[in-house]
Amino acid sequence: MKLARMPDGSPEIFYSLQGEGRHAGRPSVFIRASLCNLHCHWCDTDYTWNWTGTSYAHERDADPSYRKYNREEQIVDLTPHEIASSLAAFSCHNYVFTGGEPLLQERSWLDLMAILAKADGSSPFFEIETNGTLMPGAPFLERIHQINVSPKLTNSGVPGEQRLKPAVLSSLASTGKADFKFVIGSEEDLQEVVDLVTEANLVHDRVFLMPKARKVAELESQQGTVAAFARELGFRYSDRLHLRLYGSRRGV
Ligand code: SF4
Repeated sequence: MKLARMPDGSPEIFYSLQGEGRHAGRPSVFIRASLCNLHCHWCDTDYTWNWTGTSYAHERDADPSYRKYNREEQIVDLTPHEIASSLAAFSCHNYVFTGGEPLLQERSWLDLMAILAKADGSSPFFEIETNGTLMPGAPFLERIHQINVSPKLTNSGVPGEQRLKPAVLSSLASTGKADFKFVIGSEEDLQEVVDLVTEANLVHDRVFLMPKARKVAELESQQGTVAAFARELGFRYSDRLHLRLYGSRRGV
């Protein structure tokens, strides 16, 4: 299983508070997968996909110190059993599978959930964060408790045919386990959200608008506007709690 590798060589597995969506503030153990099938130009986990030799643009390209990542240096390969052993160090049993795009490794997550459910007498809770382009199979859907879907808008810089899969969004919605979170950078993004909500038949109470922000200052300048959009359209507002608490650091 390919996980993001921290600079010290360890897999990116850490105990923190969920920062976004329905379970914001909840203590959770995060497991970050490497690899993604999209390449959003504002992505804050670009070390999971923006490999040397690729031509994907990133908003940090303007920073002279920014470099694409060496793929081998950014991935650590572990079996689900090895990951489960690492997780035994935590007394928390709320797990968040994040990335990158974790559903690229659906089979391995399924194996990991089976191991944890067997090893863990305290009813583990499994949550996944996905970009909504891949539909998991029935065994995975049976095991997972919460699916945080974040469909990407034009502001991601990714072509529509790659990032938008309305049929997948509808199917995820029909599981009753999915919330849908949209990153809002400007008022122009709202019509796209409304159109997609209509096309995929999403329930308003399951839709979150979240400010596009990589830094606390950006979050603070955007929060009032995005909160007003949420009020006006009857959607929920999602903060980025981890950004306020820890900044844009990894592994916290
Ligand atoms: S889908 Fe998520 S992880 Fe992948 S490039 Fe976009 S923001 Fe980054």
